[in-house]
Amino acid sequence: MNYEETLKEIQEEVTPLFGKGKIANYIPALAKVEPNQFAMSLQLFDGQSYHVGNSDQKFSIQSISKVFTFTHVMNLYNESLENRLGLEPSGDPFNSLVQLEYENGKPRNPFINAGAIVLSDMLVSKYKKNTYEEMLKYIQKTCDNNLISIDEEVYLSERKSGFKNYSMIYMMKSFKNIKNDINNVMEVYFKLCSLRMSTNELSRAMLFLSNHGVDPITQEVFLTQSQAKRVNAVMLTCGHYDASGDFAFRVGLPAKSGVGGGIVAVIPGKMSLCVYSPRLNSQGNSLIGTKALELFTTKTGFSIF
Ligand code: GLN
Repeated sequence: MNYEETLKEIQEEVTPLFGKGKIANYIPALAKVEPNQFAMSLQLFDGQSYHVGNSDQKFSIQSISKVFTFTHVMNLYNESLENRLGLEPSGDPFNSLVQLEYENGKPRNPFINAGAIVLSDMLVSKYKKNTYEEMLKYIQKTCDNNLISIDEEVYLSERKSGFKNYSMIYMMKSFKNIKNDINNVMEVYFKLCSLRMSTNELSRAMLFLSNHGVDPITQEVFLTQSQAKRVNAVMLTCGHYDASGDFAFRVGLPAKSGVGGGIVAVIPGKMSLCVYSPRLNSQGNSLIGTKALELFTTKTGFSIF
């Protein structure tokens, strides 16, 4: 398979879509990003990787951080989510409050905001004041690279404008589904969303999920085989909020998006991928990124189905 050629073809085929979709502007610092960007990276088990576009350009990982949060909690709590959140698609936007109230403060899944906030609370119960630092170390280990850091401006901007996220955590606290101080939990949640990574780094970080929980290059064990299968299953069913079904239909891979414009995807037994293009579709997923992954699975035949 000539991956270089395939990635180049995809870049050409998505170019006419530049201009479609809207950049996330509900977080003011994100609205400043140059909208017409595209990069895509593919990481193989033997350490080889292929890239197109500016694959070293760092961007705000946003909800892609929920994959790190979920995998870390799976590992720490040995899959027992203590009945604190569900594993079903929400069918609602990522920051919806409605469902959370009628389901008694129990988020539908770990990949919507409320779910990741509960997981952040579980991390704070474990690591207390050191939670962000511990998570940063973990993320750096997944991509075998300690040059990952936060975008301070995005972090402050999220903290200042995150009214819906605060509403969710207060609602969950009222149902006793948050155990720690609200500000400590939100600090961790916002900081993880504000990390900056490139498609190169993110595709590398996802490799353990393509290889049954073990990094095939460093041999580091992040998850058991069963846990990795479960994370991938939740990425397939819930990774794109209320567009998860559509994404599975078009692309057919476990994947997770973020409003920064990134999408990571896993091809079990083969490789991991990341695509970046900041203009979003109406559900908050990268419009060109989704198309690029659809083209990738169509051209290579590598979907999980
Ligand atoms: N930080 C964003 C928020 O909390 C993450 C949302 C996303 O990427 N979908 O709103």
